[in-house]
Amino acid sequence: MANVSFSAGYSPDLKSPVADDSSIIVIYMVRRCSRCTCNELATITLTYQYSRALVWIDDLTAERDPHAYDLCDRHGVRITAPSGWRLEDRRNRFRVVMPNRLAG
Ligand SMILES: [Zn+2]
Repeated sequence: MANVSFSAGYSPDLKSPVADDSSIIVIYMVRRCSRCTCNELATITLTYQYSRALVWIDDLTAERDPHAYDLCDRHGVRITAPSGWRLEDRRNRFRVVMPNRLAG
């Protein structure tokens, strides 16, 4: 088991002056790959609609959807649509446009 140590000046004591009312606490909810034998971090979300025979791959959604599958990079690149289905990759579809770069 790894040893845990704290660098000089850091105190885990929540009553320290650092953790006053003006502090912002950020909690990251880590989501893992849905494959049962995989424990990698999820990076994409897979959804499908049976009636349209359509599979979508999106960047990891902001919130967990019980009807979607979160997958890691390794399992994400292996996705293929079943025969007769269409796979639509919607990752990076929305990009930030810099208006000053469009001007000629
Ligand atoms: Zn995985």
